[in-house]
Amino acid sequence: MYRIAKRTAMLILMFLLAASVSFAEESIPQEEPEQPVAEEPAAQEPATEEPAAQEPAKETKPEAFVMGKVKAKRSGAGTKLSWKRIQGVKEYRIFRAYSKNGKKTRIAVVRKNTYKDVRAKSGKGCYYFVRACKEVKGKLVKSKAARVKAKPIYRVYIETGHGRRENGQWDPGACWKGYQEAKLMIPIVKQMTRFLEKQGVYVYTDAFKGNCYNLDKTRKIIKTKEISAFVNIHCDAWNQPSGTLPLYKTKEQKKLAKALNKGVHKYVKIKDRGLCRRTDLETLNKVKVTSCLFETGSIRGDNKVLRKKTKAYGKGLARGLCTWMGIPFRG
Ligand SMILES: [Zn+2]
Repeated sequence: MYRIAKRTAMLILMFLLAASVSFAEESIPQEEPEQPVAEEPAAQEPATEEPAAQEPAKETKPEAFVMGKVKAKRSGAGTKLSWKRIQGVKEYRIFRAYSKNGKKTRIAVVRKNTYKDVRAKSGKGCYYFVRACKEVKGKLVKSKAARVKAKPIYRVYIETGHGRRENGQWDPGACWKGYQEAKLMIPIVKQMTRFLEKQGVYVYTDAFKGNCYNLDKTRKIIKTKEISAFVNIHCDAWNQPSGTLPLYKTKEQKKLAKALNKGVHKYVKIKDRGLCRRTDLETLNKVKVTSCLFETGSIRGDNKVLRKKTKAYGKGLARGLCTWMGIPFRG
């Protein structure tokens, strides 16, 4: 009786085990079919704008693959893109456009699953498109492009007047009673930079490097980087009248000069000499972006303001520049 019961129990147990295994096998979810790759004739063809579709495809090709979500994050002067790595991918192609359906420019081909773009126009939001490319039986197969929107990044160049010359010599600029223009302007530019950075603006400057960028180097940076404006900070000679005097040449430069001046007079108690048009200055002539040479005051007449009111001065200049760029300013 006991034996029979044991055998029966064993049989029942085996049956149950087998049933549970087959049930378990059945309950394993099927893999999602992958997205087929759209056929595209030319390699140079701009990326399609739709992100990889989420619905499962009707047909499944063995070489098909899907480009996942692309993330865009601000990183210093640029935008860092990242996405999930896809197995067996030969390269990722990255495109940029300034509107959803605008002209797409191929900006890079990379093998890693990240890319940092610092060449988008200053102050302009853009869209990035990333597509993966695989080599299947000697043929290049491309995924659909995944799209991501990136916020605008504002970049400016703020130069402290004078300082290290092209030949390595020190140029103090205006001098009075042991004060040097080149050294007096550094704290103002540092403050201006801090206030601009607080608003999210990326600043190229030599103020934290001891005023050691000469005009050649400055021009090279301006030429190779995407920036909105170039502001050159000076103070006037001892025998010049007191007050602010922004210098400009073109119409757009005048707008910038006016905005900077307005910003300064909001926070600093100093005379206003108005705006002055000059056609003989390298800063205004030889730089392709909108520029302004700002005379902050006289080294003698405004000496105390230039030394003691650096924070207010920097704040005013930063505010003016933000106003001109069209971005809100928070003190
Ligand atoms: Zn000067």
